[in-house]
Amino acid sequence: MSNKLKYIAENLDSLKIGLDETFKFNCTMCGKCCINREDILLKPKDLFVACKELSLKPQEFIQKYCECYVGDSSGLPIVRLKPVGENKRCPMLQGSRCAIHNAKPEVCAMFPIGRCISIDKNELENSDKISEIVYINQKVNCGDKRVTHTVREWLNKFNIPVDDEYFIEWHKVVSSMALDIQELEKYTPEKIKGLMYNNLFAFLYVDYDLEKDFMKQFKLNAEKATGMVKHIRKVAEQVKEELNGGKP
Ligand code: SF4
Ligand code: SF4
Repeated sequence: MSNKLKYIAENLDSLKIGLDETFKFNCTMCGKCCINREDILLKPKDLFVACKELSLKPQEFIQKYCECYVGDSSGLPIVRLKPVGENKRCPMLQGSRCAIHNAKPEVCAMFPIGRCISIDKNELENSDKISEIVYINQKVNCGDKRVTHTVREWLNKFNIPVDDEYFIEWHKVVSSMALDIQELEKYTPEKIKGLMYNNLFAFLYVDYDLEKDFMKQFKLNAEKATGMVKHIRKVAEQVKEELNGGKP
């Protein structure tokens, strides 16, 4: 877990802000939040909208601007914008402007507001019991405080739905797969794991037609990804049982 996430987790109660509570913030366009950045992770939708904006296929965008790795805690493929040069500039920063200003990643668009959701792994199949999205005010020192916003207005400004179906679905998918991957890790040969990560990467990030609706494609791809991981887990458990002489 990055230091920033650790800080947020430890101070969640004091950072929380309600949808209709206000915060003061005015971006002065200094560009400092786009340098010394190694933590701009792209979720599938971030990648999809950025690709549309630049008319690049996901694979092309990733090759040009990103690096990919397997996350330590989730065990899932992660895509992040690859910093450039000594000052670790975001590759999307052109001069003092974001090249994907109208399609910037959610984490940049919402700044200084952030959001998180906690999902009980035992309730993954039960949508009614999925926790509410929690908003946080990161209380940053940049910009000035000349403008007051409610969180709701801020989200509207960046076209981010309050009950964001995609955000909830993404976290459900990640939680469900992380659980299966933790279980299958020990009993699955490296070669199979390598193939699994390649397929997961393709399903979650690459296999999209930019002319079609994102959410429909995401749901289908997520189904393929979770189905594949569940199948590999099942096989891994059979192997484990055989190694244990028939005991689970
Ligand atoms: S994507 Fe745009 S707003 Fe976000 S860090 Fe990069 S240049 Fe800055
Ligand atoms: S969000 Fe803050 S750091 Fe980023 S450009 Fe605006 S004022 Fe500068």
